[in-house]
Amino acid sequence: MSKRQLAMVMDLNKCIGCQTCTVACKTQWTNRNGREYMYWNNVETYPGDGYPKKWMELGGGFDKAGDLQEGIIPNIQADYGVPWDYNYEELATFDFTKGSSTAGFHATTDTTWGPNWDEDEGKGDFPNDNYFFYLPRICNHCTNPGCLSACPRDAIFKRDEDGVVLVDLDRCNGYRYCIAGCPYKKIYFNPKISKSEKCILCFPRIEQGLPPACAQQCVGRIRFVGFLDDQESQVYKLVTKFKVAIPLRKDYGTQPNVYYVPPTEAPAKFDADGKIIEGSDRIPIKELVKLFGEDVHHAIKTVKAEKKKRAETGESELMDILIAYQHADMFRLDANYYQEVAKSKEPKPLAPIDDRYAKGKFTLEFTLPESHGTHEGNATHEGNATHEGNTTDEGNTTHA
Ligand code: SF4
Ligand code: SF4
Repeated sequence: MSKRQLAMVMDLNKCIGCQTCTVACKTQWTNRNGREYMYWNNVETYPGDGYPKKWMELGGGFDKAGDLQEGIIPNIQADYGVPWDYNYEELATFDFTKGSSTAGFHATTDTTWGPNWDEDEGKGDFPNDNYFFYLPRICNHCTNPGCLSACPRDAIFKRDEDGVVLVDLDRCNGYRYCIAGCPYKKIYFNPKISKSEKCILCFPRIEQGLPPACAQQCVGRIRFVGFLDDQESQVYKLVTKFKVAIPLRKDYGTQPNVYYVPPTEAPAKFDADGKIIEGSDRIPIKELVKLFGEDVHHAIKTVKAEKKKRAETGESELMDILIAYQHADMFRLDANYYQEVAKSKEPKPLAPIDDRYAKGKFTLEFTLPESHGTHEGNATHEGNATHEGNTTDEGNTTHA
């Protein structure tokens, strides 16, 4: 357990599924060099199979006795889906004056799955009783990370100063036990460098008092970031004071540090004549219990009660927090804290606090291989990682 723990709260009542967070993360960290298929932040439609496909059925995490559970490593092609492009060039040169006027707009590879593949499908009988909501997901920077426990190389570590979980790329040999061990499947294999990579909670931003890019850019203003022990932070108030923010799949045993305000308001159902059934709710409570456990009952009751109180009296601290008036209140980070820690460790000013992530033979060289490897990956569980040359890419060094 770390000395302090950063946490994020996401209010699912306000997520509009716009994917701005996804793009903010992707353009900053994962749009190149073997990370193309990775989504450190993704927003999936629930109910749905998610990303990677059926991730909730792929094992990992811990049982009640605290033993690590076996897990499955998703197949890059079938379960994540290989990023594809379209035949733009063919269309650009197509002669529409000859023959058919349908040039045929199509993907240039076989498409089998991808992030958001089942967007907005949901479940139920449209239009009387169907439903879905959006579920944004990042690494939970767990207190008891399955990825860390599964790694036989001690290549995954949790920072004492803020609980951020990182991969030491110099130690990682690409065995991928971590992927099997993470029940959220939020750590990914980079086939180009034969190493595992994951969300870093934008630690270079955080150390300067800025929130992660996904939170900063969120147009729905659903994300709050702060330290769990900071009683002035809205994260503390949502998680501990009001207890309306609860972790996803707590039953996996990793003690996740991303918390969710569950969806509390869904449109009412319609009867056979298309009339509203008063008091009905489309989202089955058993689905919310599956995701958030029994604590979801208290969370929903509290949000509804505070909403009513606000309507009747004009007052509610909880509603004021959830409305999220100002970024300055939503994000309570502390650059001074990091400066003090940095001073005590005597690194260069503004250098990452844990410089294991930035240093080393893999992270300081820039030679790209001519062959870029395959999406099927080259590593095996036996540790026979075959590198496409011991090279790295500029993405890793942006943390420095
Ligand atoms: S969500 Fe997965 S990758 Fe992230 S810390 Fe937890 S176990 Fe590790
Ligand atoms: S940017 Fe915010 S509102 Fe948009 S999908 Fe992401 S979490 Fe939801």
